[in-house]
Formats: sequence, C-alpha cells, structure tokens
Amino acid sequence: MTTIAVEQRILNANDQIAAENRAALDAAGTLAINVMASPGAGKTSLILATAARLPADVRPAVIEGDLASRIDADTMTAAGIDVVQINTGGSCHLDAPMVRTALPELLAGRPDLLFIENVGNLICTAEFALGSHLNVVVASSPEGHDKPYKYPGMFAAADAVVLNKADVMAVFDFDVDFFQRGLAMVNAHAPLFVVSCRTGDGLDAWVAWLLAQRAQS
Ligand code: MG
Ligand code: ZN
Repeated sequence: MTTIAVEQRILNANDQIAAENRAALDAAGTLAINVMASPGAGKTSLILATAARLPADVRPAVIEGDLASRIDADTMTAAGIDVVQINTGGSCHLDAPMVRTALPELLAGRPDLLFIENVGNLICTAEFALGSHLNVVVASSPEGHDKPYKYPGMFAAADAVVLNKADVMAVFDFDVDFFQRGLAMVNAHAPLFVVSCRTGDGLDAWVAWLLAQRAQS
C-alpha cells in the first residue's frame, strides 16, 4: 500500500506539471503531438516526412526524447527544424518535468506544431502526461500485425495511429485487417493512416488530418 501511495503522489506531481506545460503551449499557440512507438518504427522518419509536407506558414519544432545520444536531434537540425534533445539517462519514457525544460527555448519561436518524440517504448510512455494535445502511436509492418492486441493500453490512448513501412508489408505477411480489428477493439475513435515514410504513400491523408486538428484547436 505504501508503494502505491508514493506512485500516486508522483503521478499527481507529473499531471500538475503537464497542466502547466499545456498552458504554456496554448499561450504560444502551439499544438503539441506526443509521438510514441517501439524503437525503429519510424518516429523520426514520420516527423521529418510530415514537416516536409507542411504548408509554408505552419512551422514545426521537435523535442527528441532518447535514453542517450543526439543522433535524431542532429537529423532534425540538418533538416532546418528547431529541436531540443532530452536524454532521459536511462528512463524509458519522457515525463512532464523533462518536457518543461525544453519549452522555454522552443516556444520562444512560437512554432505552430511541436512534435514530442517519446522514447521508443510501447509500454509506459502513454502513462505519463506531458501536456501534449494529441497522442499519436506509430506502428510498422516489420513489428507484426498483433501489436494492438499485445499493447492495448498504448493503442487505447491514441488519437491517431500511423502504420508505417507499408511498402514492405507483403514481405512481412502483414495483415492490415487483423491489425485494424485489434485497434478497433481497444479504440473506437482513432483513425488509422497506412503510410510509407520511404515512398511517401499515405502521408498526405495523415498531414491533412493533423492540420485539421490544429484548425479545431
Ligand atoms: Mg527516433
Ligand atoms: Zn517508462
């Protein structure tokens, strides 16, 4: 019981800071998207491909969450995108205090969209509110079509699901209908976008959805 009480207190502190992050984002007119996936599903690739398809008057910024390294942040910088790298030092998820440290620098530029690339992990990332407006889960065909069945909590928390690497689906005997049925079992509202960040297929529909979310916010 003691352990449960302590965890509860930590979560409440996180939620409090997440609410402060949300207020700062709203004051800057920035829509924040928490991008979650397993390692290697294509979070960085999706953010880059999305940024490249935004209208000229919609400016993106990125927070990169990784256990270690600046590899993804350097990729964003090379693409001309404002980025702050957060190294979690072993923690398997971002939390609201980590995101808070990155906001002053990024929100000074008043970006229209802030992509928060979470640590590659389908288990606990969705349990920690960051202050973001949207949760997006990226899956990919090499991971297999059973992901929504095995990680229901993650897919239940999604506002949208992007299924990447559609171009190699046949190689992995990926059953889209099975994947979609699993998603529908845990989440009745999240749209599914089947895309390939490598070929560009399907990305226009995803970007249109994202821009529509921004228009509604
Ligand atoms: Mg990445
Ligand atoms: Zn974690």
